[in-house]
Amino acid sequence: MNRRDFLAVTPAAPALLQRLQAQIQQLPIISTHEHLLPESERLEQTPDFFTLVSHYLGNDLTSAGMPAAPRSWADFEPWWRHAQHTGYAHAFKIAAKDIYGIDPISEKGIAVINAKMAAANKPGLYQSILKDKARIEYSVLDDYWHGDPVRPDPRFFVLARKMDWFSSVRQSSDMRRMEEVTGVSITSLSGLKNALERRFQQSLDQGMVTLKTTLAYSRSLHFAVASEADAQADFDLVMRGPQPQPPRRLSDYMFHHALSLAQDRSLPIQVHTGLQAGNSNTLENSRPTLLNNLFARYPKVTFDLFHIGWPWPSETAALAKMFQNVTVDFCWMWVISPTAARRALHEMLDSVPANKLLGFGGDYRYVELSYAHSRMARAGITRVLSEKVQEGFCSETEALSLARLILHDNAARLFPPPVA
Ligand SMILES: [Zn+2]
Repeated sequence: MNRRDFLAVTPAAPALLQRLQAQIQQLPIISTHEHLLPESERLEQTPDFFTLVSHYLGNDLTSAGMPAAPRSWADFEPWWRHAQHTGYAHAFKIAAKDIYGIDPISEKGIAVINAKMAAANKPGLYQSILKDKARIEYSVLDDYWHGDPVRPDPRFFVLARKMDWFSSVRQSSDMRRMEEVTGVSITSLSGLKNALERRFQQSLDQGMVTLKTTLAYSRSLHFAVASEADAQADFDLVMRGPQPQPPRRLSDYMFHHALSLAQDRSLPIQVHTGLQAGNSNTLENSRPTLLNNLFARYPKVTFDLFHIGWPWPSETAALAKMFQNVTVDFCWMWVISPTAARRALHEMLDSVPANKLLGFGGDYRYVELSYAHSRMARAGITRVLSEKVQEGFCSETEALSLARLILHDNAARLFPPPVA
């Protein structure tokens, strides 16, 4: 390599990083996944320091040994000491510092944060934090706490809805409740299918842009193809008496039915894969390769694999590389582990076509933390892209195009707002 080439492919790293930072910080982005309360519901609550701790930092405090949810500095500090350098803690620190001016986290800071949170808890909060500070154009909202589909505020959200209920039937009272909300009589498998179809339509009517599933929290992601006769036999079992678990063949069958409805409308599905939130579950249930049989069977359904399937991001990348209808979604990931997210993005940028990478989803209930996560995502993506430029993998201009794709354009294409 002559001296001229050497200079051309090795720009001064800090200057390159700063230039990319300046541009990427300004980009409007789309969050592929949030659990944010509607602003009106948030304003009815009195969230405080420990409310912010509860999501997701509380999981790391529990993992460290904390026996119960903290309500005082004395409850909190012994475990904070051990968890303060995790990704969840980093997001918490950014929220406390950038939004409420507290740095470092301290006992005295609790009262300050609580007072400032109370003062900020008024109309305009979401505009100020989600739009003005985080520059999030809109977010895909999973409002799982709303039983019935509710049209979200279109200034901030589009709607994801789960049909998991229909794959989790284990007693006849589940069917009675489904009859109430759908108005469909359920006395056989075909009635249950009709109720699912009705629920699907109710959700579309409220603006659903994607299905969502978190079934990996309660069962394996392997959905075998069950016959109608086997599903009906499981249905009859449920009608005879409550079952300890949702019978598997009925669960599989109903999940496939939901996918066939999505296939008819070319609707994507967001699939929870990888790390299970909380402090107890069966990790293996959420392994992305368990879904393998579905991808060829439903070619018009895009399977958006959440959380990059971490700790199996390479398997997720391989699936996205193989199948046209598989995308990789970094939602939740920049706070789960900023380092693992950077490593995975490095690998995915040179193994998966860039139109299949979704770079950010906050996955939080409180806007302060979604903002903090967006900062971490922008920083991590910027760092990886600057390294890619330095390695000669792409030009600086191409790096910015990649940033736009993975932070905005891919999500806009996959989850466009419903036509009013
Ligand atoms: Zn989530």
